[in-house]
Amino acid sequence: MDPFMPQLVYIEPQALEYPLGCELKEKFEKLGLEIRETTSHNQVRGIPGENELQQYRNAKSTLVVGVRRTLKFDTSKPSAEYAIPLATGCMGHCHYCYLQTTLGSKPYIRTYVNLEEIFEQAQKYMDERAPEITRFEAACTSDIVGLDHLTHSLKKTIEFIGKTEYGRLRFVTKFHHVDHLLDAEHNGKTRFRFSVNSRYVIKNFEPGTSSFDERLDAARKVAKAGYPLGFIIAPIYMHEDWEDGYRELFDRLKEHLAGLDLPNLTFELIQHRFTKPAKKVIEKRYPKTKLEMDEEKRKYKWGRYGIGKYVYPDDEAKDLETTIRRYVDTFFPNAVVQYFT
Ligand code: SF4
Repeated sequence: MDPFMPQLVYIEPQALEYPLGCELKEKFEKLGLEIRETTSHNQVRGIPGENELQQYRNAKSTLVVGVRRTLKFDTSKPSAEYAIPLATGCMGHCHYCYLQTTLGSKPYIRTYVNLEEIFEQAQKYMDERAPEITRFEAACTSDIVGLDHLTHSLKKTIEFIGKTEYGRLRFVTKFHHVDHLLDAEHNGKTRFRFSVNSRYVIKNFEPGTSSFDERLDAARKVAKAGYPLGFIIAPIYMHEDWEDGYRELFDRLKEHLAGLDLPNLTFELIQHRFTKPAKKVIEKRYPKTKLEMDEEKRKYKWGRYGIGKYVYPDDEAKDLETTIRRYVDTFFPNAVVQYFT
């Protein structure tokens, strides 16, 4: 698939006080993209489209170049201590996406240009915890790799963390546009993870993202560039013949990674979950989705901000966990499963 290119760009005037803001404006002008000014992202108006669905699709290819005002980082358990805010929103169209809950009404993509301020804040968090390691997750509110060929803010973050003593960076992606990241001076402090899934899940629920083969070719490249590599299997979903589907996933992973030295391979396992607000949004935006979201078949779990989520009942969750852990042990005996949630 081609790298993401916005159809419409909004620029906050304040963003032009930062070098990256000016650089992006110039780049998009040269590319002949439509650029509009907006006082703040909350004022983004007039995204084209005759109905809500079209506006939603167009918002997914709209980029807002802005300034991150809140410099208090969110926590990001269980994979990291903090979420480092580089961007929000995503060009992908995964039906189950967690952004349906968090960015329900604002699905456009925002990139932040005040990187120095963001890095200063990250440094403060590291100093507070030193000599403990502080891990930052860069993909909590977007698929940052999908956007980074335009902004290089992830690349700068990788290099910033590479120079720190106690910092670590991690992010996950479903995109394969990684070439510009291969020569970043990561110093082994960034874990590059790819999101993978069974054929059924990728085919039915992940439109607008790179194919499995593209992701795996990219994974080979980043492993060869010396990045610690990981895979996130999410959402683990009980479709028909899911045991075979996930076994096949491991078969294909093994085949694609053959011949690579992966001393430090990790897996993170996340079962499918949905919230009530997300279900409503998903049904509106992907009305034909096959995604099963029947509250009756799930277990309710209290969540952050009072938004509870529906996960699999304990016995099914256990079945998912044991099966996938067994596949990891069988296919990648040296890999570590960091968590199942
Ligand atoms: Fe959401 Fe990730 Fe899919 Fe983007 S790639 S739509 S962030 S799940």
